[in-house]
Amino acid sequence: MVYCPDFVVKSAEYENEKQQVKTEKDWIVFRNKWFDISNWPEKQADQLAKESLNKKGPLLIGGRKWGYRTLICDISPEARYEFCYTYYTVGYKFIFPEYMDEPKTARNGWSQECPFCEISTHEIGDEECPICKRKLIYSKYLGE
Ligand SMILES: [Zn+2]
Repeated sequence: MVYCPDFVVKSAEYENEKQQVKTEKDWIVFRNKWFDISNWPEKQADQLAKESLNKKGPLLIGGRKWGYRTLICDISPEARYEFCYTYYTVGYKFIFPEYMDEPKTARNGWSQECPFCEISTHEIGDEECPICKRKLIYSKYLGE
C-alpha cells in the first residue's frame, strides 16, 4: 500500500492553505507543514532496482527525447505530481526568484518534466505530457 501524505488525506485543508501562500514566510510554514518529506517513506533499494529495469532510456516520444527521473519518496504518482507542481507553481518564486523571469530554455538549464510519469526532457516544447496529458513542469538544473 502506497503511503498517503497528509496533503492527500486532508486535501480540502491543504488546498485552502495553498491558496493563502502569499509570501516567502507563508511558503516556509506551508512547506514545513505539508511537505515534510523526512516523514515520508523512501523507495527501497529492491524497488528502485526493479523500477530501473523498466527505465532504460532515452525514450523518443512525440518527437522529443526524454530521460527517466525518479523521486525517491514512495508516494503515489498523483501525490508526486501535486508535490512537484506545487513547488513549481507556488514555491519556486520564493526559492529561486532570480530565475523565474528568464527564458525557460535548455541553454539556461531548464527542462520540462512530468513527475507523474517520471520523465523529463531538455527539448523544451509542448506543455502537455505526451503520456498522461498533464501539464509539464519546468525545472532548472542548478548543479555544475
Ligand atoms: Zn505524464
